[in-house]
Amino acid sequence: MSASLIVQKFGGSSVANPERIQRVAQRVVETKRQGHQVVVVVSALGDATDELLELARQISHEPPERELDMLMATGEQVSVALLAMAIEELGEDAISLTGAQVGILTDGTHTKAKLIDINARRIFEELAKGRIVIVAGFQGVTMTQDITTLGRGGSDLTAVALAKALKAELCEIYTDVEGVFTADPRIVPTARKLSAISYDEMLEMASLGAQVMQARSIFVAKRFEVPIHVRSSFISREGTMITKAAKAMEDVVVSGVTLQKDEAKVTIRDVPDKPGMAAQIFRELAGKDINVDMIIQNVSREGSTDVSFTVVKHDLAATLRVARSVAQRIGAGEVTTDEGIAKVSIVGIGMRSHSGVAAKMFEAMARERVNIEMISTSEIKISCVIRKTHAERAVRAIHRAFGLGKR
Ligand code: ADP
Ligand code: ASP
Ligand code: MG
Repeated sequence: MSASLIVQKFGGSSVANPERIQRVAQRVVETKRQGHQVVVVVSALGDATDELLELARQISHEPPERELDMLMATGEQVSVALLAMAIEELGEDAISLTGAQVGILTDGTHTKAKLIDINARRIFEELAKGRIVIVAGFQGVTMTQDITTLGRGGSDLTAVALAKALKAELCEIYTDVEGVFTADPRIVPTARKLSAISYDEMLEMASLGAQVMQARSIFVAKRFEVPIHVRSSFISREGTMITKAAKAMEDVVVSGVTLQKDEAKVTIRDVPDKPGMAAQIFRELAGKDINVDMIIQNVSREGSTDVSFTVVKHDLAATLRVARSVAQRIGAGEVTTDEGIAKVSIVGIGMRSHSGVAAKMFEAMARERVNIEMISTSEIKISCVIRKTHAERAVRAIHRAFGLGKR
């Protein structure tokens, strides 16, 4: 519609207290006064989502996911209202809307609902009145009026999907770092800011733990070629552009190192070593919407074998239920869990055509005496499961080994 429509998303840390909300309001108002139409997406204040989840945990060991969504969605309702007030204070017209009010329609997979459609009409109507529209991130509504959420970090997805639906010129993601770095700058102080990164690399980095962007949001951005600018909400310097082709990447083998700590390892012991066992285990997990990440099967001994795999901790309770019931049915042994793991990965499109990349990564860890428990590789990434206590040290060593730091 309008050529100058911009979607601006502000993460939790950008709106952690009243002063920051006021600062965000100023930035939004400036953008409006430069002649743009502005649609703002906001996350819950600071750690509000975690605090709500903690409250739920104090009440219930395994809260119903529908009620978790009902609870978590309140976080964003607080921040949109406060930001609208702050903008009104600065003399501009603003209106806050929940996901349901906007018409962000999702399926009913509570806590990780999938987008079905966005009804842009209400937003366009409000923009036409000269208002700044503030949309609650992370939430949607089903056809039957149940409130859903889009998975952790889901405000990024709200922003990208809105940018697509509204045909915005740009989707700006404001956060507490200056852009996308070669590694989490909180772990690797020498990490370097990338001026540009391709959708493919960002998707891989996000999927492997670079939480600066939610992976699902990049999937959507890539599909509809939504241009994204990740930048700091505290400093006005340029951040990182995420686009189709980032040509600076051509001669770079590895573009980043990532760390994931939210997975757990599950082991089913003494699985009968005969056809169909793995199929049965993983079919039943898939049937419960559980995504399995890495899988290893140990060498068979005396007709049985141990099968280990990783899942996100969020799914651990459900995974154990399924695994124990399958184990019993197929005559396998006990099911054990290990939450002390972490996964370090390297990502880079250039890895395809280079040999020795894996060796370099393993050597970097060997020098640090970090033991590797599981390995998985693809054309553009290598991941290793290690002890969580070694995680940060391993990330720094790998980052150094590939010369990714500031030059
Ligand atoms: P927001 O609340 O703004 O959505 P998030 O906490 O979700 O912010 O994401 C920003 C955080 O992502 C940063 O504070 C940083 O610690 C972390 N991060 C992890 N990997 C990277 C990376 N490669 N580049 C930049 N930030 C990263
Ligand atoms: N508040 C939600 C979360 O913490 C959504 C977001 O921040 O993007 O996951
Ligand atoms: Mg985030």
